[in-house]
Amino acid sequence: MASKKTRVRFAPSPTGALHIGGAHTALFNWLYARHTGGSFVLRVEDTDRERSTLEYERTIMDGMMWLGLDWDEGPDKPGPFGPYRQSERLDRYREYAAQLVDQGLAYHDGEAILFKVPSGHKVQFDDVVYGHIEVASEHASVTPEGTIKDIVLVKSDGMPTYNYANVIDDYEMAITCVIRGEDHIANTPKQILIYEAFGWEPPLFGHLPMILGMDKKKLSKRHGATSVFEYSDLGYLPDAVINFLALLGWSPRTGEEVFSRAEAAELFELDKVTKRAAVLDTDKLKFINQEHLKRLDPAKRLELIRPFWVQSGLPVSDFDDAYLAQALELMGGRGQTTQELADYSDYFLSFEPVKARYDAAEIDPERKPVLRAYYDALLAQPSWTAPEMEAFSRAWSEANGTPLKQIAMPLRMSLTGRKVSPGIFEVAELLGREECRQRLAHYGLASK
Ligand code: GLU
Repeated sequence: MASKKTRVRFAPSPTGALHIGGAHTALFNWLYARHTGGSFVLRVEDTDRERSTLEYERTIMDGMMWLGLDWDEGPDKPGPFGPYRQSERLDRYREYAAQLVDQGLAYHDGEAILFKVPSGHKVQFDDVVYGHIEVASEHASVTPEGTIKDIVLVKSDGMPTYNYANVIDDYEMAITCVIRGEDHIANTPKQILIYEAFGWEPPLFGHLPMILGMDKKKLSKRHGATSVFEYSDLGYLPDAVINFLALLGWSPRTGEEVFSRAEAAELFELDKVTKRAAVLDTDKLKFINQEHLKRLDPAKRLELIRPFWVQSGLPVSDFDDAYLAQALELMGGRGQTTQELADYSDYFLSFEPVKARYDAAEIDPERKPVLRAYYDALLAQPSWTAPEMEAFSRAWSEANGTPLKQIAMPLRMSLTGRKVSPGIFEVAELLGREECRQRLAHYGLASK
C-alpha cells in the first residue's frame, strides 16, 4: 500500500496568546511533519466569534515564529486546501450538514442542525500514544444524566460546533494524523461518529500527554509564565524552549537531553511519545537553556544579551563588539538565562551597579594601607596581563605573609561588586588598567 504523504495541523482557537500547552502541540505536529517530510498546516478555529480576534491570531503566529515552528499552509500562506480560517469556510459546513439531513442522519431543531447519535455499535480507534480506545456509540455523547445526547453540528446562529467543523476540515484538508492534547480524547468518538456518517476514513489520532505544573496539578495560569513570550522576556532561547518542550512526553533514543531542533526533527518518532503526564520542571528548563547559551557562537550570544543590557540602562554603545563579546566569553557559561548572563556581566559596562552592590564597609580601615600598597604596586606593573598580575600577586602575598585570597577578594568586590566572578585577573585585564585604578580608588584602595 502506498503510504500517503503526511499532513498534520495545529488548530488553535485565537482566543488568547500561544501558551505552553499550545506550543507543545504545535511542536509535536511540526516535528512529525519535518521528520516525515510532510506538510504542517496552521488552521485557525475561530468559530467562537465573541472570543476570537485577529490580534490573537497574530500573537499565536508570532509565538510560533519566535519558536521557529514554520508552517507550510495557513491563513497567511495560501495552499490548495484553503481557506485556513474556519470563519471563511461557513458555506462548506452548511452544505455538508444539509447532506446529512438529506440522508436522514441529522435533523433541524429550529435554526440548529443536530446529528442523531446512533446506538448499537462500537466506536473505536487506535491512538498512536494512548493505544486502543473504544466506546459504545450510545456512550460517545451523553448528557450529565447518562442519556444519549445528539451532537449539535450547526448552532442556531449558523456557526458550526468544534467537533463538527474539526471533522469537516480535517477531511477536506486531507489531514493524515491528528496530534493534539489529551483533553480531546473524549471528543474523538464523537468526531469518529461524524466521519462514519459521511463514510470517510478517519485520520490517525495521537493524543499528547497532559502537562503538569511542579505541584503535579494540571498546568494553568497559576503556574507562572504560560505565554511563550513570557519565556522570551525572561531570557530563554527559542531553541532551548523547543528542546525542553520536546522532552515533555518524548525523548530521543540517543538518550541525549540537550539537542538542536534539527536533531529533534531527525530523531522524532510519534509512536515513542509516552502517555505519562509530563511535569513542567523549570529547573530543567534553566539547565537546558544554559546549555544552549553555552553552545551559541559569541556574535550570536552578544546579539541576544545586548537588549537586556540596554534595558538595564547600561551604556552598551560606549563599547565595541569585540570587547563585549570577550566579556561574555570570560563569563564562561555562567548564567542560566540571557537575562541572568546580562546581569552577571554588568560590571564590564559600568561601575554604577558595582557601587550599588558594594560599599567596602567590611574592610577594616587599619588594613587599607596594606591593601593600597599592594594594589598600587599591581597597578604599576609593566604589563597589564592576567598571567603577570597573577604571578606578581602570588609573589607579593608570599613576601608579605598575606594569603592571596585576602588581597584578591577586595579586588574582586571592587571591580565587580560580586563574590563570584570569572578569574579576577582576567576581568582586570579586560577592564583595563585605568578603569581598575578608578574603581579601587573609589574605595580608597588605590592612589588616584
Ligand atoms: N481548536 C481546538 C483547540 O484549540 C483544536 C483541537 C484539535 O486539535 O482538534 O483545542
